[in-house]
Amino acid sequence: MAQMQEGRVLTCMVTECNYNKGEICYAPSINVGASHPTCDTFTIQNVQMAPRGLPDIEVCDITDCQFNQNNDCMAPGITISHHSGHADCLTFRPGPK
Ligand code: SF4
Ligand code: SF4
Repeated sequence: MAQMQEGRVLTCMVTECNYNKGEICYAPSINVGASHPTCDTFTIQNVQMAPRGLPDIEVCDITDCQFNQNNDCMAPGITISHHSGHADCLTFRPGPK
């Protein structure tokens, strides 16, 4: 099982994304979206995989998430999965910090 790592993608169930290999994200980093906690880095284009898994969350624009501090994710690792046909951050927790 992956270790908790602050602001990192621990696992991603969106296996149709070309950065996904064995439910691990091999993007260099990801961005999480503005009006909804969507993984904006999802792609079906050909990509170059980063040499390691557990990418950083570069920017998260979901400022009403309890884990968001100045657009940085302070969660002890996040999980991405499907929601309404797209890739969402399942670790999103609305509410006061
Ligand atoms: S959907 Fe996002 S978190 Fe999942 S593998 Fe693709 S880029 Fe990584
Ligand atoms: S847990 Fe919250 S702050 Fe972290 S990426 Fe997900 S929505 Fe953004």
